[in-house]
Amino acid sequence: MMTKKVTVLGILGGGQLGRMSTLAAARLGIKTHIFCPESNSPASHVAAQTFEADYTDKAALKAFAKSVDAISYEFENIPVETVRYLKKLKPVYPDDYLLEIAQHRWHEKQFLNNIGIPTANWAKACSANQVHATLEQWKTTVCILKTARFGYDGKGQVKINKRSDIDAAFASLKSDEVIIEAVVPFAHEISVIVARDVFGKTECYDITLNEHKNHILSKTTAPAPLSPALLAKAKKLGKKVANEVGLVGVLTLELFVTKDGKLLANEIAPRTHNSGHWTIDACAVSQFENHVRTVCGLPVGPTARHSDAVMLNLIGDDVKLVDKYVDKPNTCVHLYGKPDIRAGRKMGHITLLRGKH
Ligand code: AMP
Repeated sequence: MMTKKVTVLGILGGGQLGRMSTLAAARLGIKTHIFCPESNSPASHVAAQTFEADYTDKAALKAFAKSVDAISYEFENIPVETVRYLKKLKPVYPDDYLLEIAQHRWHEKQFLNNIGIPTANWAKACSANQVHATLEQWKTTVCILKTARFGYDGKGQVKINKRSDIDAAFASLKSDEVIIEAVVPFAHEISVIVARDVFGKTECYDITLNEHKNHILSKTTAPAPLSPALLAKAKKLGKKVANEVGLVGVLTLELFVTKDGKLLANEIAPRTHNSGHWTIDACAVSQFENHVRTVCGLPVGPTARHSDAVMLNLIGDDVKLVDKYVDKPNTCVHLYGKPDIRAGRKMGHITLLRGKH
């Protein structure tokens, strides 16, 4: 529980999500201290202080904890042990229970299924032989193999079809904890962003439609132009996850909408999400402000949107397109201050406001 008013929030991770949470915190009169191994990180440019050290450096973690009133994190690959260590020193939200689920695809899928949320058919694999056996049992030659840990933006996964060399594909993942997933014939990908405060109040942003290029989010449309009944169902699933884990903070549930209109959960992110960047410009209280509010023990804010929006990610060289947008009306340019342009690197985003809601 919160023991005192938070004036300094510690954030583990120094990426753009930490940067945008820091900017939201500043508006609430809250400073942030960032802890991350990288120098010159996007969040460090705007934070009051940065602790540059490895996530396993206990002395640095102790000094960081001493300097803040509460702690959160902005990406899910923080070691769970780091969060457990910090938890003894200061309140840390979201809880490591959620982090543990979100870090491992076996736990994640099992958790979702246990609480009645359907996913693609899946199985564990610790060897290529288990992949062969599962495909035989499923009577198919197609599937997706993903490393159980540390996958993101399509990294650590490989699609299998009848021409694939399964042994080589398994070996290419360089992991003995792999998930086998049936290929979902999806019509759309959507996401639900939920914020829940220490008082148990839950708010949900409008569901977005997400389009990817090379496995990286490229465009988000808010609200998703899908049936109100489907959108309501998706919100219900997001809230269910938040309530089941006793969330304090923000989480995102990524869902597939199948061609026959069913919802299947893909992933849980225990944090703010790229598909929620539009909320900075189209909602009175953004996902980042609600992240800060909830982990600081403040009440969650209303998530209603005042405008419809389309968010375009600026990946790698796309950042050069900014000149095309800067003088356009209702166009909000966000750059993350990353010094070098690299292929696949998220450099910024643009939100196009599309009329009052
Ligand atoms: P992930 O890393 O699990 O978010 O997967 C990255 C992207 O790969 C997703 O956004 C989908 O476009 C695609 N994908 C992942 N899993 C599946 C699946 N089981 N069936 C079809 N497409 C998938």
